[in-house]
Amino acid sequence: MGIFTEQPHLFINGQATAPADGFFDVINPATGAVFAQAPQASLGQLDEAVAGAQKALPAWGALSYAERGAVLLDIAAAIEARSAELAKLITLEQGKPLAVAEGEVQGTLAWIRYTAAQDLPVEVLEDSPHKRIELHRKPIGVVGSITPWNWPVMIATWHIFPALQCGNAVINKPSELTPLSTLLLAQIISDHVPAGVFSVVCGAGALGGAMSGHKGIDKIVFTGSTATGQKIMVSAAETLKKLTLELGGNDAAIVLPDANVAEIAPKIFATAFINGGQTCAAIKRLYVHQDLVAPLSQALADIAKQQIVGPGLDPSTTFGPVQNKAQYDKVKGLIDAAVAAGGEILSGAQTFTEPGYYIQPTVVVNVDDHHSVVTEEQFGPVLPVLAYTDIDDAIQRANALSVGLGASVWGSDMAIMHQVADQLEAGTVWLNNHAELAPHAPFGGWKLSGIGVEFGLDGLKANTIVQTKQISR
Ligand code: NDP
Repeated sequence: MGIFTEQPHLFINGQATAPADGFFDVINPATGAVFAQAPQASLGQLDEAVAGAQKALPAWGALSYAERGAVLLDIAAAIEARSAELAKLITLEQGKPLAVAEGEVQGTLAWIRYTAAQDLPVEVLEDSPHKRIELHRKPIGVVGSITPWNWPVMIATWHIFPALQCGNAVINKPSELTPLSTLLLAQIISDHVPAGVFSVVCGAGALGGAMSGHKGIDKIVFTGSTATGQKIMVSAAETLKKLTLELGGNDAAIVLPDANVAEIAPKIFATAFINGGQTCAAIKRLYVHQDLVAPLSQALADIAKQQIVGPGLDPSTTFGPVQNKAQYDKVKGLIDAAVAAGGEILSGAQTFTEPGYYIQPTVVVNVDDHHSVVTEEQFGPVLPVLAYTDIDDAIQRANALSVGLGASVWGSDMAIMHQVADQLEAGTVWLNNHAELAPHAPFGGWKLSGIGVEFGLDGLKANTIVQTKQISR
């Protein structure tokens, strides 16, 4: 692709395509400076992609799951061959340490290969002397995928490949903040699928809204904020698009009094500060029994202090910058507001003066549930630790927000942990873990955290339309 030496292309209907609306800058969050340019697609180019997708649909949809799965496996092999390049690109535009970016690419491969083996055969609902009823699953049509900047390649994978496997055509729009790794992924996909089956458009401003209102797009799958998810629902209403919305969370974790602090502290740190906290299902509110608040928050702060915060391409770095300036300002603002309101930072002073969007992982105590650092999804490297004495009170506080993506319970007595877990309003509940996802486990949000699920058979089915066939005998 020559992404470092020349301006990259869009991929529309199988062709590397020059952008109709010029190029926009891509910033490296490790330096805060522009390091590359990306192509800005026009609304006309979106229309071309939609028309090409509609043309490609009948033949692609007519293939068997096994035939499409074979194409997905070829794509996975091609991604694997370029995995080092892809990981480096993720780090350059997203900021995460290279080892984490490499993990993102490996996760991508695992997800594609899992998806390639999936099938949704015809189900027989009745087979009696008088009647046979069959349930068929048809492709929905053209799926518009709008992907975010935190796990750009992984989340694009979650959107694109289940849709393709079910016989849909896909048009992806990556975040304008991290378009380059998706463009490389798009080039690889375009090389392997028939023209029109996959296109990528990128840029900021009007494309997302145009996709969610487009008469030729039949479904939108979106990962991002609740506010934008709500806008998508509004603009999708006229065409009654199918929707899968994976929106923000503000995940609570509850630590029971019998938890082993030494055992859980590293896992809580890893799952609260995963990807610098820029993960939809990371721990963002930690409710700890009063007896454990001091030792656990100190243990977390000690781990935070050990992190080497720096550019993701530096091999010694364990903790990268926040991806973009707006998010950096938001997280710093939440930390400053918590301190102004009496919160105490246990993890050391913020000492970074170099350019780039660096924030040391921050553990805050002495805040209450009404502080913005608790009520707002931080989506960055700060974790408030909140004390409770009564477990029912902790459960009520965990459920008090309008979002419910993930939640977790940490302790030793499994029976009690299950009792607590069963009362939590979240799409996924982990026991002694958090933030771990699996391609065979459906994942989605309650309340304002989303609509529908991704992953597993339920996630795959969300890429299909049910057609019931009634055969009289
Ligand atoms: P947004 O949630 O606002 O999403 C931005 C994307 O949505 C862009 O691609 C934009 O494209 C598109 N978009 C905007 N309006 C519409 C619309 N009406 N219809 C369709 N698409 C639209 O992301 P931000 O980057 O602003 O992040 C804001 C917050 O979201 C973060 O602080 C974080 O809390 C959360 N977030 C959650 C993520 C998750 O994994 N759940 C991931 C990233 C962020 P265009 O400009 O072309 O319209």
